[in-house]
Amino acid sequence: MTARSLADVEYNYKVINERIAEAAQKIGKKREDITFLAATKTVDAATINHAISLGLDHIGENRVQELLSKYEDYNLENCSLQFIGHLQTNKVRQIAGKVDLIQSVDSLKLAKEISKESKKRNITTDILVEVNIGREENKSGVFEEQLEELLCQIAELESISVRGLMTIPPICDNTRKIQKYFNNMHKLFIDISQKKLDNINMSILSMGMSADYYEAILEGANMVRVGSSLFGARNYT
Ligand SMILES: *Cc1c(COP(=O)(O)O)cnc(C)c1O
Repeated sequence: MTARSLADVEYNYKVINERIAEAAQKIGKKREDITFLAATKTVDAATINHAISLGLDHIGENRVQELLSKYEDYNLENCSLQFIGHLQTNKVRQIAGKVDLIQSVDSLKLAKEISKESKKRNITTDILVEVNIGREENKSGVFEEQLEELLCQIAELESISVRGLMTIPPICDNTRKIQKYFNNMHKLFIDISQKKLDNINMSILSMGMSADYYEAILEGANMVRVGSSLFGARNYT
């Protein structure tokens, strides 16, 4: 990364923080109520570490191979490393113990594997359950009506702890449509919270990316995952 790009990251980091603060304030929350997680796919460790030096304290990778290739180089002293992509069951053991939160759990099979690999290491792994709020085919996440059953099944497992929900809504060409998805997701989050299911902690609602994190916060997100607005456009996704 060139000095120019690092200066861009600095500028972007500041702008995003200000927009997060502004959105939070609009709905009576504080900046600190919202977690800014940087989606770091395709970004080199030096650039990520630069962002961390600015105060960024949550990063998320979405490919196991890429996470492992950068793992030794991240400066994680004051930063939480999370997994935000689709996770194959056979790769769980490669990241268990390395990440603080797996955001993308959408099946009992995957949860069981995380439970097994965590137990082996004597740790508890925090997870979010991913919801396919737009009911899109070929997309990760459970449908709304499957959520409660899956949560209850996961709650029975050892060494795994549900901390909330995550979603990636359909790509929308207008703000009102996307806000509707975020709003539905927030309702679901509140609904599940109020049921006070045993061993289910609903504290994190992770939704909103570069194009729509502002709207997501207005609709109740308390964690946003921002990539390209911080690091610049990716050559591949
Ligand atoms: C890449 C990615 C993001 C961020 O996307 P941008 O549009 O670049 O902000 C958020 N969430 C997940 C799961 C991602 O893979």
